[in-house]
Order: sequence, then C-alpha cells, then structure tokens
Amino acid sequence: MKYLENMIREKGEVRPGGIVKVDSFLNHLLDYELYREMGKEFKRLFDGEAVNKILTVEASGIGIACVAAQYFEVPVLFAKKHKTSNIDGELYSASVHSFTHGNDYKMVVAKKYLLPTDRVLIIDDFLANGQAMLGMINIVEQAGAHLCGCGVAVEKAFQQGGELVRQRGVRVEALARIKSIDEDKISFC
Ligand code: 5GP
Repeated sequence: MKYLENMIREKGEVRPGGIVKVDSFLNHLLDYELYREMGKEFKRLFDGEAVNKILTVEASGIGIACVAAQYFEVPVLFAKKHKTSNIDGELYSASVHSFTHGNDYKMVVAKKYLLPTDRVLIIDDFLANGQAMLGMINIVEQAGAHLCGCGVAVEKAFQQGGELVRQRGVRVEALARIKSIDEDKISFC
C-alpha cells in the first residue's frame, strides 16, 4: 500500500536494533485517513473469507483492528497481555517472547468470546519475529476456530516472523513490507 509506504519513508524513524518508530502516525498519534485506508485494504484483501471476528493484541493492534472491523462489520476481540481483575472465567493463554521489549508475557483471551464456529482474521501493527502473531494463532487453534489469515500493517521482511507464520500454511498479508534498513534508509519489497 503506497500510502503507508510513503508515510513510513517520510515520517518513520529508525532506532537501534532495526526498530522502526512510527509514533507520529501509526503507534501514538494516529492518522485517521491512513487508518481508514488500511481498514478498507484489509477488507479488500480478505473479502470472501466470511470473517466473523477480528483478533488482535493490546495495545497497538486495537486501533487498526477496530477501523478494519467497521468494513467487515464484525466484533474485535483483543488478547490482554496480563490477566487483570476484569477478565474472568476460563481463559485461553499463550506465552510470548517480546524481542522489542526484551521480556516474556502471557496473552489471554476469555474462552466465552472465541468459539469453534468463529472465522477469525488476526490483525496487528507489526510482524517482526512473529512471536505475537504465533501466540494469537496458538489461541485460535486452542479454540478450534477457523483462521482466515493474518493482516499486518508493517512486515519487517528481513526478520523471520513472516516466514514462520507462512510455513504453517497461514495466509499473511502485509500492507507494507520492509526489505531492509541500511543506516536510516528504509527499502520496501
Ligand atoms: P514480533 O512478535 O513479531 O517480534 O513483534 C511484534 C510486536 O512487536 C508488534 O506488535 C509491535 O508492537 C512490536 N514491534 C516489533 N518490531 C517493531 C518495530 O520495528 N517498530 C514498532 N513500532 N514496533 C515493533
């Protein structure tokens, strides 16, 4: 999606460790036009898959998932990163290692909100090493739901996540795929 690529080129900042900072339009201050176009594009890509639920993980995935949900007209379920007091009943959980933050966390989803009859589209902001995505896939599998595919705003194709997920036969669509980062120059596939 050229719109997103251009914004990353113009406004994205490269941080040590190959981290792309996109706080001014995607991760902190959110550009509503960009979000709208991303929502439309996910709908175009996964139209015909009869998606009835979108799954994402807090926090950055929620906004993108909610805008996409307007086009799919389906609810959004977001995995929580900590078992908080306001989530009760039986839970599906998956352990995830975050390379970005250098820690492990457990993502949880209430069993009552993810059903074997669901047709799920997973949405997230970034696909890097794939651990967050694999955690969500694991949860969909635990529920016995059908996984329609995964949609990410940005795939860092020089990291292994995309390959790990596709190897499992899961369809992955990225709106922008970063091929490489050299010094401050970001190149797209
Ligand atoms: P993964 O589990 O695929 O390694 O990383 C996924 C999560 O880490 C994403 O949901 C995102 O929040 C964060 N992340 C990974 N790489 C980047 C990056 O380059 N920039 C930003 N802003 N977030 C990233």
